[in-house]
Amino acid sequence: MTKHVYAFKDGNKDMRDLLGGKGANLAEMTQIGLPVPPGFTITTQACMTYLASENHLSPEVKAQAEEALKDIEDAVQKKLGDPANPLLVSVRSGAKFSMPGMMETILNLGLNDETVHGLIAQTGDPRFAYDSYRRLIAMFGDVVFHIEKAHFEEQLTALKQARGYKVDTDLTATDWQELVNRFKAIFQEKTGLSFPQDVRTQLWLAIEAVFKSWNIPRAVAYRKHQHIAHDLGTAANIQAMVFGNMGPDSATGVAFTRNPATGEKGLYGEYLINAQGEDVVAGIRTPEKIVLMQVTMPDLYKQLLHYAQTLETHYKDMQDMEFTIEKGRLYMLQTRNGKRTAQAAVRIAVDMTQSGLISKEEALLQIDANQLPQVLLPAFEMEIKRQNTPNKLATGLGASPGAASGKIVFDPDEAETLAQVGEKVILVRRETVPDDIHGMIAAQGILTTRGGSTSHAAVVARGMGKPCVAGCESLILDLRHETLSANGLTLHKGDYISIDGATGEVFKGNLPTVDGKINGEMNTLLEWADEFRTLGVRANADTPQDAIKARQLGAKGIGLCRTEHMFMGQDRLPVMQQMIMAKTEAERRNALQKLLPMQREDFEGIFRAMAGYPVTIRLLDPPLHEFLPNPETLLEEVTLLRLNEPDSPETQERAQLLKTVMQLKESNPMLGFRGCRLGLIYPEINEMQVRAIFEAAAKVKSDGIAIEPEIMIPLVGTAEELKRLREQLENVAREVMRETRQSVDYHFGTMIEVPRAALLADEIAQHAEFFSFGTNDLTQMTFGYSRDDAEGRFLAYYLDHGILPDNPFESLDTTGVGQLIVMAEEKARHVNPNIKLGLCGEHGGEARSVAFCDEAGLNYVSCSPFRVPVARVAAAQAAIRKRKAREQLNQNLNLLHIK
Ligand code: PEP
Ligand code: MG
Repeated sequence: MTKHVYAFKDGNKDMRDLLGGKGANLAEMTQIGLPVPPGFTITTQACMTYLASENHLSPEVKAQAEEALKDIEDAVQKKLGDPANPLLVSVRSGAKFSMPGMMETILNLGLNDETVHGLIAQTGDPRFAYDSYRRLIAMFGDVVFHIEKAHFEEQLTALKQARGYKVDTDLTATDWQELVNRFKAIFQEKTGLSFPQDVRTQLWLAIEAVFKSWNIPRAVAYRKHQHIAHDLGTAANIQAMVFGNMGPDSATGVAFTRNPATGEKGLYGEYLINAQGEDVVAGIRTPEKIVLMQVTMPDLYKQLLHYAQTLETHYKDMQDMEFTIEKGRLYMLQTRNGKRTAQAAVRIAVDMTQSGLISKEEALLQIDANQLPQVLLPAFEMEIKRQNTPNKLATGLGASPGAASGKIVFDPDEAETLAQVGEKVILVRRETVPDDIHGMIAAQGILTTRGGSTSHAAVVARGMGKPCVAGCESLILDLRHETLSANGLTLHKGDYISIDGATGEVFKGNLPTVDGKINGEMNTLLEWADEFRTLGVRANADTPQDAIKARQLGAKGIGLCRTEHMFMGQDRLPVMQQMIMAKTEAERRNALQKLLPMQREDFEGIFRAMAGYPVTIRLLDPPLHEFLPNPETLLEEVTLLRLNEPDSPETQERAQLLKTVMQLKESNPMLGFRGCRLGLIYPEINEMQVRAIFEAAAKVKSDGIAIEPEIMIPLVGTAEELKRLREQLENVAREVMRETRQSVDYHFGTMIEVPRAALLADEIAQHAEFFSFGTNDLTQMTFGYSRDDAEGRFLAYYLDHGILPDNPFESLDTTGVGQLIVMAEEKARHVNPNIKLGLCGEHGGEARSVAFCDEAGLNYVSCSPFRVPVARVAAAQAAIRKRKAREQLNQNLNLLHIK
């Protein structure tokens, strides 16, 4: 018989697949002797079976749950539904990967009109008992029957107003009892049913609602954004209730073992005296900082600190814990590896290694490499902030670092709509709720007026790597008039606002940002990565400034210098246009002659910045019309000119330009007159570029600087193309070397970005010393998806509906495009064993793709400078995992030998 239900004492932390993260960790905490109220977990598998069987909870699941429930009842000496001595339980969801606030929780289950008296008898506190009962009705109504929470909240507000109360704690037992009746009436009105008095009905409906919550839209949206598979299911955890709302010696809270924004060591979090957990997580009341517990509950604080240290040492990772204190007794209700910013992740990993808790390998494996560019997140310069002191609206809690500016929006749907048309927005809310997720994804940053550093907004923003200022209480939000005011300033919807998620500051206006810098700990971690990795890391850089940045970030060379970017400058574009418009070769050469010194100067700067490292320069790639004005705009302009000044020289000149643009326009420019095709038809373009490269190389070399130029031909599909271009270029190279009397060692190679080139890599490799896989084009041409249009058209649908697991332009399609790479590599190495192989598409800076390149045996990857840290760490992780797998294999082989 399949086991669907596990008591906490029977599970452990390695059973996340089956028990979900929450269930597995509750089991682990029970195993290591921490005070966890007894409970059990119904498996994720049972959830998937339930969802597949048209929502039918099987008799075996029920029978096993009944048995486990009996164990809880024995342990706490109470019984579910016993009017004299009732057991109350919580029912919570918990998937393999944490989805903060995404799914469902029901507390106080087991209360009805009779057991509420039993609870009064147990506690001697009717006020508490009726408060608990009304919470159950509201949560049950919301989670199981989708009655909007607002209906219940309205009743509470109305009663408070009628009685002249300010806060919930003013309500008496009779008031709460009155609310229970009102809540039951709402339940009846909205569902046509009475609130279930049968506690078994409550239990099964709650478990089913938890299972169903796996498929509610906000959970589905979160999974998509976080790339979590949709077929994992959620477990349901049923646990004896403990109460943080039983008076001044009760409390509830959340705590991290380290600060999740900065990584600083020490308990960090919040708690609320006399409250239930939902009050903290949902950010409904702004809680106290946890350090204050040292004063209010010193012994319990010590105990909590001890458990926190135990858990961190046990899990060898920073923990995010939930706890409840019931009448002076501390219970642990959850622990998990805490979500953290990239800055914090690096600091924690380095600190844990230096204090001997983990090894360098473990530190590196602990890092989410794709998160690392966050360290380079934009910030506001101190001086800019100083100048904007009069515009400072308020300071809230710096809940997720990074700086962002954008137009104020108060509504998540509006945030999404504006972002779709390219607007930058800041989502401003009282507090966010899981249903706001789409607006949070769309916004540059998030600002809330309530809630702490563990509120929904803060947790989700940190997970997304977005700036967030939370709990900014001095801001006055007027949602009816759509304004925001503080410090004598009032802003309206659509006005610019700037937030600093590191310090919590909020400014009026659109403040400029500067990029972040790598600090000491990051450097340490990256140096460790370099100790382990065997895959080289270069950068894609087109200017001397980018090259300098790439070096600072640890790139050992340039894997792709896109020379066309050098022609885009204001001073160069007109000359480039002259070259394109030239009617004769002489005219073209004349224009090229003007471009030559500009290119030479750039190459010189790049060679100097990359002293001693290879620089791969790719000759002109894009179709020529990309350098000319947009034909539609030009047509409008010429039409107007013809109407207003038909004979002017300007009209004639613009009309001539329009003619050329139309002549050059292609139906499929991506498959058109670009790449090596340009250089074959107009050899003078390549000649100029090669001359500029060698003249620059000769100059830099004569200054005693080591150089290693590599000339790369784009978009080759046949060996003949490469052979001809090589001859053409070698002639120019020899000519310049003769003229400058400087010999320059260089390499000649090509990109592999057309499937045919991969298929015939052995032929092409006979004319190349290196290949660089251009996986942007290779993906485009292998899938047949336009890289310019696919994402805005059908790709989003494909991803939403699971037709594709990932965006192949972001994460390499290892099964399809990957096969072409592996095949090309084998063929190339067969004829040319020393050929150097790299990859320079966007994938070179994405962790999973980098791991693939390491596995495939490429020599290096090349990516945008800010992604260089990702590639360094991902390459190290791949090497470490490979070594571990090898060691495991050897161990298994040894075991076989022994046997
Ligand atoms: C590529 O196609 O992967 C590549 C790096 O070249 P580009 O993006 O410039 O076409
Ligand atoms: Mg390309």
